[in-house]
Amino acid sequence: MGLFNSILRKRDFPSLDWIQIEVTSLCGASCFYCPHTIYKDRWRHGSMSLETFKHIGSAFEMAKLIFLQGWGEPFLNEKLFEMIEIAKKVGCKVGLTTNGMALDPETIDHLLDLKLDILGISLAGTKSETHNHLRAGTDFERITQSLMELKEKKAGKNASLPEVHLAYIMLKSNFEDLREIINYAKRVGSKDVVCSNLNFFPSHQLRKEAIFLDEPKKNYYYETLEGLKGKAKENGVNFFFYSPFLAAPMPLCPENILRSCYISHDGLVSSCVFTNMPISGKAEPGHIEGKKEGFPRSILYGNINHQSLSEIWNSDPYKSFRHIFEVRQKGIKEDIALVIDAVGFQVSEKQKIDVRNDHPLGSLPDQCRNCYRMRGV
Ligand code: SF4
Repeated sequence: MGLFNSILRKRDFPSLDWIQIEVTSLCGASCFYCPHTIYKDRWRHGSMSLETFKHIGSAFEMAKLIFLQGWGEPFLNEKLFEMIEIAKKVGCKVGLTTNGMALDPETIDHLLDLKLDILGISLAGTKSETHNHLRAGTDFERITQSLMELKEKKAGKNASLPEVHLAYIMLKSNFEDLREIINYAKRVGSKDVVCSNLNFFPSHQLRKEAIFLDEPKKNYYYETLEGLKGKAKENGVNFFFYSPFLAAPMPLCPENILRSCYISHDGLVSSCVFTNMPISGKAEPGHIEGKKEGFPRSILYGNINHQSLSEIWNSDPYKSFRHIFEVRQKGIKEDIALVIDAVGFQVSEKQKIDVRNDHPLGSLPDQCRNCYRMRGV
């Protein structure tokens, strides 16, 4: 019966690259660019129950990676370790991104025992002065000490997991700190650095922090990032950065929405984090290229507490949404990997232009038309 069910599930459900799960929307920090800080009066706080998590569990065997991350700090869910254990038992890779403040010695031991695959650490600077200012409620020195301790313990146990990934948010006010990121990665034992843009603006003022909107300096940003990529290579560090150039709309969403999904702490399924932000009421209007646009509304396809993930995945509204992107994908020979790579400057300028040709925004849902992720940043 188990095997039969498994065959049925595989028929109805594609293999997914990842399922992203918001285990909590709670956070103790107040990063100045985060919707959690700016929309704090109307934030929907909550943590996923173990019961809800187990509902998703039946779909885990269809996914390569379970990423326990949404609009909150994962370690504030008191069932986090049990959740990691459940997903690991199915054989999935498991990862999360944290602000690093919960990494006390006991927690580090627990993560080592559980063999968590990826431990992402959010950074907004490579020194206390910058990081602590931009990520209020976190402490750069404390995070660094915890990472050093993890590095030592991994060495002591000859363990390769968890891999530490540094997730650096690139802002105009912290860009210069980035020059030290490779040295920092080596110091704390990280072999992976990912630099992302601030690409969602919960307040209009934050636009001045976006490097991709800083037209006069865009070449400077790009050259600096390329230089860091070269330095990273020499030092055995993988360095990935999102483009500092606002480009023509991509044919596909770089969030890989045809082979992944997002589930919020209350069990709601959407295509990505931007289509289910835990805020009640109407948000401020978003802006793109100076034009006022409606804020991306929540686009939800079902609740995991009431339906299986495969039922939700195969529902008509969700299929119709994905179909728009499937149509956009037709006519381009390159697959999703190439399109995603194009965002990260892994292919030539010529190829980037090719994959972005002739894909007007008109056919996209509102929330995607207004989304900077479609613009390659
Ligand atoms: S374009 Fe933006 S809103 Fe639309 S699916 Fe992709 S990330 Fe989400």
